[in-house]
Amino acid sequence: MGTANAMAQAPAKTAVRNGAAPRERPLAGRHALITGGNRGIGAAVAERLAMLGAGVTLVARDAATLDAKSAAIGKAHGVPAGFAVADVTQEAAAASAIAAANAAIGPVDILVNNAGSGKSAPFKRTDLAFWRAMMDVNLTSAFLFTSAALPAMIEAGYGRIVNVASTAGLVGYRYVVAYCAAKHGVIGLTRSLALETAKTGVTVNAVCPGYVDTDMTRETIANIVKKTGVSEDEAIAQITAGNPQGRLIEPEEVASAVAWLALPEQAALTGQAIPVAGGEVM
Ligand code: NDP
Repeated sequence: MGTANAMAQAPAKTAVRNGAAPRERPLAGRHALITGGNRGIGAAVAERLAMLGAGVTLVARDAATLDAKSAAIGKAHGVPAGFAVADVTQEAAAASAIAAANAAIGPVDILVNNAGSGKSAPFKRTDLAFWRAMMDVNLTSAFLFTSAALPAMIEAGYGRIVNVASTAGLVGYRYVVAYCAAKHGVIGLTRSLALETAKTGVTVNAVCPGYVDTDMTRETIANIVKKTGVSEDEAIAQITAGNPQGRLIEPEEVASAVAWLALPEQAALTGQAIPVAGGEVM
């Protein structure tokens, strides 16, 4: 843990960066690095960006799922696709992952800071270790990967940074003080950095999903079932009660919003935190 490994499944970079990318492949020649890209929202984002033509590098801790997912995406969409094993909370690992990605596919010009963990605890059981763990994985990770990727984007005069925050970055919720504080921090990072990079060609935005149907949410549902004895459907109804659409969000719906923010044509869209939550926050 803590060091990025060599890239795998990374064919040579396609050289169409400044050419007229076809309308259906507007990200052709671009290179997106997605933290937490092996599963859940991150995997859906990687799939969507590859579908639009981007080469992708997936970063997470689990080499087997990274390998399988990057190989499948590369094959399905005909783009360079690789991975780096890294604990996103570690500075050296973040720097190594970006360096390995740059060397294998070309400069990362789309960074999606998605890796995270949404563990809950009432405030009285939120000790310093838990607080720090939530900050490290949800907020410091975005800082570390952005620090490693941004200089090359600024030098190139082009970049797209999309942070996967949460509705918990916009409003408070019970029993998730540390997660909420970290996600509010992600939005602060997004807004401040957008101002600092406003004249550089780099945009910085956040998406803020409500409950999405991924492993993270399935764990929450299983906990509710275990602790309260309600059925799985009742647990889902409970956690989606705040969503006017009354349903879980699909990972692909978040991916679509991220991909839209990553388009070259969204040059004027920066510093925004966009809820993808069925109207839960407005
Ligand atoms: P999952 O639990 O399905 O996946 C989490 C991802 O983060 C995995 O790829 C995991 O990799 C990676 N990850 C976690 N910790 C680390 C670490 N220390 N180093 C490297 N990778 C790590 O979560 P989701 O897809 O649901 O969540 C993705 C993002 O979306 C998170 O930031 C989350 O807070 C946010 N979000 C999720 C919502 C939801 O309802 N699911 C709602 C709002 C926001 P590995 O396989 O190696 O563990």
